[in-house]
Amino acid sequence: MNMTKREREITDPIKIDEILNDCKYLHLGLVDDGMPYVVPLNYGVKKAEDGHYILYLHGACKGRKLDVIRKNPNCCFTMERNVQPFDGRMACQYGMTYESIMGEGTVTIVEDTEEKIESLKLLMQTQTGSSNFEFDERMVSIVSIMRIDVKELSAKHRPLPGAAE
Ligand SMILES: Cc1cc2nc3c(=O)[nH]c(=O)nc-3n(C[C@H](O)[C@H](O)[C@H](O)COP(=O)(O)OP(=O)(O)OC[C@H]3O[C@@H](n4cnc5c(N)ncnc54)[C@H](O)[C@@H]3O)c2cc1C
Repeated sequence: MNMTKREREITDPIKIDEILNDCKYLHLGLVDDGMPYVVPLNYGVKKAEDGHYILYLHGACKGRKLDVIRKNPNCCFTMERNVQPFDGRMACQYGMTYESIMGEGTVTIVEDTEEKIESLKLLMQTQTGSSNFEFDERMVSIVSIMRIDVKELSAKHRPLPGAAE
């Protein structure tokens, strides 16, 4: 879908990659029997061989999001960074800077132990900048891992007023 304020769209894949690797959490949108359910979660990111993004999420082995995902794997997500309020002379000149990403895809629950270990290393990489953490079978057995295969993604930014768009 075309973006309003098209000049604020980010299309540079390197920039999009940078934002995805730098945000620390996303808001996962699910559909719970026709009602929206949004939950904030930390994530890890990787690019699949065919170029699509995969986002990994982790959490407890029970709870509402898992119940919803089992019923309906359709999802969307948002994330943002560099959020900074700015003011102006009139109310309508106040605003916030941001760089944000919105996407859609399917979310599935990962059962494979090797993929769960890899996903937790990716999560630590995104969260801390290091993947130098060890996980074993027992550790991954007590967490659930969710995998978003991203189908659509768009990125947008709002700079400070007067700065280059
Ligand atoms: C910045 C941030 C990062 C987070 N990262 C993670 C993560 O990586 N993994 C993880 O498992 N959890 C994370 N959480 C907590 C997460 O948002 C959920 O609380 C948790 O995952 C449980 O979700 P659930 O769907 O299983 O809800 P349940 O525990 O089953 O809860 C059911 C009900 O509790 C309420 N509820 C649940 N979560 C919240 C919430 N965050 N705020 C207010 N009400 C709530 C809602 O009404 C919901 O319907 C994070 C939260 C924040 C704010």
